[in-house]
Amino acid sequence: MEENNEKQLNFLEEIIEKGLNDGTYKSILTRFPPEPNGYLHIGHAKSICINFGLAKKYGGKTNLRFDDTNPVKEDTEYVDSIQNDIRWLGFEWAGVHYASDYFDQLYEWAEVLIQKGLAYVDDQTLDEIRQNRGTVTTPGTNSPYRDRSVDENLDLFRRMKAGEFEDGSKVLRAKIDMAHPNMMFRDPIMYRILHAHHHRTGDKWCIYPMYDYAHGQSDSIENITHSICTLEFDIHRPLYDWFIEQLGIFPSHQYEFARLNINYTVMSKRKLLQLVKEGYVSGWDDPRMPTICGFRRRGYTPESIRNFCEQIGVAKRDNVIDYVRLENSLRDHLNKVAQRRMAVLNPVKLVIDNYPEGQSEMLTAVNNPECEADGTREVPFCRELFIEREDFMEEAPKKYFRLSIGREVRLRYAYFVTAQSVEKDAEGNITCIHCTYDPATRGGDAPDGRKVKGTIHWVSAQHAVDAEVRLFDRLFATEAPDEVEEGHTFLDNLNPNSLTVLKNCKVEPRLKEDVKQAEASSWALALSENGVDAPLRFQFERLGYFCTDPDGDAEHLVFNRSCTLKDSWAKIKE
Ligand code: ATP
Ligand code: MG
Repeated sequence: MEENNEKQLNFLEEIIEKGLNDGTYKSILTRFPPEPNGYLHIGHAKSICINFGLAKKYGGKTNLRFDDTNPVKEDTEYVDSIQNDIRWLGFEWAGVHYASDYFDQLYEWAEVLIQKGLAYVDDQTLDEIRQNRGTVTTPGTNSPYRDRSVDENLDLFRRMKAGEFEDGSKVLRAKIDMAHPNMMFRDPIMYRILHAHHHRTGDKWCIYPMYDYAHGQSDSIENITHSICTLEFDIHRPLYDWFIEQLGIFPSHQYEFARLNINYTVMSKRKLLQLVKEGYVSGWDDPRMPTICGFRRRGYTPESIRNFCEQIGVAKRDNVIDYVRLENSLRDHLNKVAQRRMAVLNPVKLVIDNYPEGQSEMLTAVNNPECEADGTREVPFCRELFIEREDFMEEAPKKYFRLSIGREVRLRYAYFVTAQSVEKDAEGNITCIHCTYDPATRGGDAPDGRKVKGTIHWVSAQHAVDAEVRLFDRLFATEAPDEVEEGHTFLDNLNPNSLTVLKNCKVEPRLKEDVKQAEASSWALALSENGVDAPLRFQFERLGYFCTDPDGDAEHLVFNRSCTLKDSWAKIKE
């Protein structure tokens, strides 16, 4: 295990290896405990990579446990999406569990604590409880109900369970110490009354356990060795240990790491839900969302997300990760796996005046210079083409290496062309560029060794297929959208230009064939990635990485831009 480990161990790996070496445990069992109250986001991906990744590395296992102790906000839609996303990321859980499966056991243990004199029923309102908790510097005040007898507590608790009392009229609290320096120990609430329907237990329960009472005991029931969570839970850890110790049950241990924060986005499920509900995005899987399904629709690969999580590492201190690192991870992977195609997003006509009318030919294009096995394809070429409007300037400065009057450039995989003249409409917009080509340069090289400074992409006007292309920018205009001044909300920081839809794009016909082929072999089968539907991904030469969107099909092509190319294409190619 250790030998092939050139990289320094992170603190969790150190803890695990120590425990394995000194025999504290024979194998490890971790868990990923999402609350099914929303879709998973990139922060959860980090937690998934840590929990599943550590277990994988050390030959252990990971449970998926739905932390469904709050009946009001939970839904089976979320349960399904969470499983989908974990699978897509490439992880498989040992068991799938629900905290609600443990409600009976948790209830029994609560009675045990009552019997040991370690829990009592309190009639104070939540407000009173809060007020009597004291502050960090002043002790709290004992509840007037704190000294109820064991019998009275048992009776009241059973009647709470039986539904005799109204919501909020009573709680069960642990009886620890109202003057404890750790506020968590000032008689924490274990159960509250909530007459609410639960997505799994229905109307069986009207009392529900609080996080601090449910989480550690659920870990213990499953024999979890390493309960890994985010830093804000470190003040809960002593209480986690206290319940386990008082009950004398399997000693699970909690370890905390720094949560993932990324700039230009928000990550709280509550806020993501608000974006969806109030229509600021098209849904949880809007390609601008930081959700796992949003990234999937955007064209991210599971590898790119796993590599990102690996690269940012596991730390003990909070920090903010630059969004660019996530994009770089995607670029690195797509550069290796995405086939190249040609597409023109903002087309203008290019007519080759000396190319025979009515003629067309097929030119050979490399599918992926990074992967020889991907081979080549044929791209149709003829007298009229589309090129990007941005690739032509009538009068260009010296450093402009694309097309302008009198200058020669290479048409990718095709010929050298020199622009001669333009046609314009009444407003002065260029409607057509006329050029001449050198037939001797077929394939993209001049036999006389003459060089051109620029290479541009194109599609044949006669053969091109129409497509819609969606370009995305950051969803938020500010780096820390959660940070707002009084009277403002994070919504005020939304980027009004985060989505651009281009309806008149022209793409090479092979892209239609690609989508047709995928459809013919059934989308589910052809596109399945770890059992989950995923898009087809391409590099559009010189433009970036793009993927198919489920809004489209072979008859109406729709592509999402996953990310741009980092370096100028000319530099890479020449
Ligand atoms: P949110 O505040 O977004 O609702 P949460 O912590 O309430 O997140 P849970 O479903 O309870 O969401 O989280 C499941 C697991 O994922 C927990 O162990 C939690 O610590 C972890 N997690 C949540 N957000 C992040 C994050 N940004 N970085 C790393 N881990 C996270
Ligand atoms: Mg939570």
